[in-house]
Amino acid sequence: MLNKEGRGATTPAANDAAGDTHTFTGNRGLRVEEGLIFEIGRTDVSGVDVDEPAPFRLRLGGQERQTAPELPGLSEPEALRHYVRLSRNNYAIDSGLYPLGSCTMKHNPRLNEAMARLAGFADVHPLQPLSTVPGAVDLLAELAHWLLEMTGMATVALSPKAGAHGELCGMMAIKAAIAERGEGDKRKKVLVPHSAHGTNPATAALLGFEVVDVPARPDGTVDPASVEALLSDEIAAIMLTNPNTCGLFERDILAIADAVHKAGAYFYCDGANFNAIVGKAKPGDLGVDAMHINLHKTFSTPHGGGGPGAGPVVFSEALAPYAPLPLIVMGKDGAKLVERAEDLPTGSKPFGRLTAFHGQMGMFTRAMAYMLSHGSDGLRQASEDAVLNANYVRAGLRDVFSQPFGDRICMHEVLFDDHFLEGTGVTTLDFAKAMIDEGYHPMTVYFPLVVHGAMLIEPTESESKASLDLFVATMRDLAFRARDGKGEAFKSSPRFSPRRRLDETRAARQPKLRWEKPEPFKEAAE
Ligand SMILES: *Cc1c(COP(=O)(O)O)cnc(C)c1O
Repeated sequence: MLNKEGRGATTPAANDAAGDTHTFTGNRGLRVEEGLIFEIGRTDVSGVDVDEPAPFRLRLGGQERQTAPELPGLSEPEALRHYVRLSRNNYAIDSGLYPLGSCTMKHNPRLNEAMARLAGFADVHPLQPLSTVPGAVDLLAELAHWLLEMTGMATVALSPKAGAHGELCGMMAIKAAIAERGEGDKRKKVLVPHSAHGTNPATAALLGFEVVDVPARPDGTVDPASVEALLSDEIAAIMLTNPNTCGLFERDILAIADAVHKAGAYFYCDGANFNAIVGKAKPGDLGVDAMHINLHKTFSTPHGGGGPGAGPVVFSEALAPYAPLPLIVMGKDGAKLVERAEDLPTGSKPFGRLTAFHGQMGMFTRAMAYMLSHGSDGLRQASEDAVLNANYVRAGLRDVFSQPFGDRICMHEVLFDDHFLEGTGVTTLDFAKAMIDEGYHPMTVYFPLVVHGAMLIEPTESESKASLDLFVATMRDLAFRARDGKGEAFKSSPRFSPRRRLDETRAARQPKLRWEKPEPFKEAAE
């Protein structure tokens, strides 16, 4: 866009880039500096040609609008370009390595996409009579079967829309079970280890539980003794992640589960890291009572973007009766999608209905395609490769980076702290920003909270050795630059991204969600 004097745009990028890197348009190569749709659209244009309506009588009793809504109008090619240009600012797993720890950003195979687009799955409507969609119901039943087989659990609720929603589902079942025992007023506390994902305490608090912090021992895992010390008849449950968010297997999980059960409480397992143990260990054998499975982490469905996700929850025998509707039930004459409590087997007491419909068919189809194309041995190998790749990165960085819990084999993700940056003036945040200039999405930073300046790296099984070698070499080079007194340069990273450092706190605390029309007189006065 031209400014008042007819000169080119003065975007932040253009301002920063002095001298010969200046461009008239503010664009960078073929990367176009895109305005908001309100800035580039005009109220007198539309992408469609609509005839002037024939004269008609208003029948809204004076409630009709007096002025046009001033929606920004663009022609079809303009609208298309606007969104394509914006989409180019996205970084995605299809663009490159995405090493976010705990998030498991693994490749989304194209076979999944082809299957999800089959009309029999893509075009089903949730209000269609079940008799018209037996194939889709069979797919739900098959997926439920695989999930139960892999976890060794009794029942699965497919309807939760994400991991966090699954946590809510599992904890609601626990709350219902405790209420039925007549202990609802007594068991008001939930144990949550210090390394937990923020959604765990948030879920417990949302349901009215008091969150009790469980400290980690020096090796980054939970000590059954510290759990036992906190257990009493006031504890409803423990919410534990395994492998935990330090990338370590909780080796005392059986002792913890035993102690929790002896105290009359339940064991909720955050299954976000299931990717590391599929085919190797069954949560049901570890004493878990409820666990969510993030299909977008473990079973390669896309994260966000494609609409609601899916976070099925598996339940042990003890909690199965409380699983929410709707539910897939296996009967003598095949699988049924049960919508009403009275149609469930006797003994069922669902805590209610969690969602309007059965869940996200598109995600179920993708996850099923992933499972069937891998087979059970392939799924096990994916877990093994995920762990191997994380340890390959660990081995490539361990002499330069600092590991908080000593030089130990990790699971599917490797955790470093900022000890190795001491005295360089470079923080974990600076380091992450410098990675962007090198073409890498940063790893997870400052989480888990149990270590200082955490850097949590999860390469997943999708990456090739060549890709991991380049990543390791880049990370080492950045670390050497920081150590060699070039720390100052990190402070101005990222230098090559469309935007530099944003005020993330302010963006979160004071989000500007509405575009306000600039006042013409204000602009003229400036
Ligand atoms: C991702 C994650 C969650 C939440 O899952 P969503 O699907 O993002 O809601 C919970 N716990 C852990 C450890 C996670 O990594």
